[in-house]
Amino acid sequence: MKTVNSNFNFQSLLEESVRIHGHLCPGQVLGVRMSILGLTKVNILEPKGKDRKSLIVYVEIDRCATDAIQSVTGCSLGHRTMKFFDYGKMAATFLNIKENKAVRILAKEDARQKAKDYFPDIEDKYKAQLEAYKIMPESELFEIMDVKVEIRHEDLPGRPISHVKCDLCGEFVQDLREIKCTDKTLCKHCAEGGYYTLQSEQKVFFEPVAMQISHNDLEIRSKLWIEKENEPIFGRGRKFLLQAIDKYGSINQAAKEINISYRKAWSYINSMEQRLGIKLVERQTGGKSGGGAILTNEGRYFLEKYEKLEDGVNELIDKKFKWIFR
Ligand SMILES: [Zn+2]
Ligand SMILES: [Zn+2]
Repeated sequence: MKTVNSNFNFQSLLEESVRIHGHLCPGQVLGVRMSILGLTKVNILEPKGKDRKSLIVYVEIDRCATDAIQSVTGCSLGHRTMKFFDYGKMAATFLNIKENKAVRILAKEDARQKAKDYFPDIEDKYKAQLEAYKIMPESELFEIMDVKVEIRHEDLPGRPISHVKCDLCGEFVQDLREIKCTDKTLCKHCAEGGYYTLQSEQKVFFEPVAMQISHNDLEIRSKLWIEKENEPIFGRGRKFLLQAIDKYGSINQAAKEINISYRKAWSYINSMEQRLGIKLVERQTGGKSGGGAILTNEGRYFLEKYEKLEDGVNELIDKKFKWIFR
């Protein structure tokens, strides 16, 4: 067998990786060979021994070969020595941080086809690949490129370098993964959206409530509100209340402004806070006029988002309405 480098025992590395991965597959063979090649190129001869603090591996796919790379290199997400970039490519980059040397190894697409030519008698193409990948020369399996990788301080192994609270969800974010907006610090999920939504997520509804006709000018009015578990939770009325509190710094004044009782204003605020799960209004008790009140950062941010949504929806409806009824 053509093993690649005398520092690595291909057969025993493959056995170990099969044990960890759970089965023998072409990906294991490819991953083990890719790792041996990459490690050798960046002068890492004992990845789990004396060189273990010199190595970072970047993988570009979450498939079988990635487990083989983890098994051979000893690098893992948990140790922050393996970085995953979801490119969907059968490729990995091996970085020797001490020598600042990196190679990216890409599995060649036509190796699959060539594998068949090595074992024309094996019908099952996976079995043919499995056997062929063991013996095919590296030049047929891989493309090797010298690359430069700048690893950021916050990506290195070691203790977390920061720990900050998201202004919106209140969850903590480590290692500078937060996103700084003009006046807020947000987690990525709150700032950009993410892979999950809460089961009891608020939904937005709107319906056209009035169409005004004067001369030839048609105008449309729409109503927008947010519901949670089929119960309205926020809409125009509550928006006016929050805006008025923001303007006057007092719940009393705000209630007068929008023509509801002080008690009613309180109960609106309480139920919104409970159902949204955020604190909207900060009460300042003991003032002369029955206590002042200001919007919290979360409250103001929520209001801004709603206003933005309303603007966007109205603009869209206006445009579409004019276009359809022109
Ligand atoms: Zn597999
Ligand atoms: Zn957040």
